[in-house]
Amino acid sequence: MSGELAIRLRGVVKRYGPITAVDGLDLEVPLGTCVGLLGPNGAGKSTTMRMLTAQSIADEGELEVLGFQLPRDSKQARAQCGVVPQLDNLDVSLTVEQNLLVFAHLYRIGRYDRQAAIERSLELANLADRRDTRVDKLSGGMRRRLLIARALVHQPRLVLMDEPTVGLDPQVRQQLWALIDRLRYEGTTILMSTHYIEEAQRLADTVLIMSHGKGVARGKPADLVLEHAGR
Ligand code: ATP
Repeated sequence: MSGELAIRLRGVVKRYGPITAVDGLDLEVPLGTCVGLLGPNGAGKSTTMRMLTAQSIADEGELEVLGFQLPRDSKQARAQCGVVPQLDNLDVSLTVEQNLLVFAHLYRIGRYDRQAAIERSLELANLADRRDTRVDKLSGGMRRRLLIARALVHQPRLVLMDEPTVGLDPQVRQQLWALIDRLRYEGTTILMSTHYIEEAQRLADTVLIMSHGKGVARGKPADLVLEHAGR
């Protein structure tokens, strides 16, 4: 791995016909840190996330995730990442625990370790008392917590979160922040996109501000706020 980087992007470009969604992006995420991609709708954050999970292939540039080159070694990279998608794609006909079990299988957690992995995720996301509840009976906040728990079931070294708290009320957002905080303290590397400045300030060690597919400023959130918004 180059240095101690979990993610390294160099000159990444992604075009959709005439639209350049990501336009020469450089990004570094050091292991053990939380980096925020901050920017308005359409800045290119989700496109960047999709390239990191190889759901989308870059037109130009270099992408490295946990030492693996993308898209060539995307399968190996994916096996060690947890992905929290922007859109809730939980199986609503299954219970909380069954959703976690499906992913425990997908991530090839051994039969004897599966239950412990599920218990750990349930506890982390504070959903142990909801294990037998069907997903369509959960609140929006619980569903979000389950999406995060599902991404953590194989104890990934790197978690990618695309707008993890978008559309949630402030109280639920606080709960999710506490959960993400805990992951940070446990040393999990996190890349999260957000368009909430207060979310980046609260959670990220460093922030990259994106606009029109480019990184336009980077640094510690407090410094960026001072620089760009004044006191
Ligand atoms: P949001 O917060 O709304 O998800 P974003 O910063 O994640 O915004 P992207 O979704 O990456 O931004 O979009 C960047 C640009 O690329 C936008 O102009 C968008 O319309 C365009 N775009 C994204 N995906 C596609 C696609 N599949 N086909 C065509 N254009 C796309």
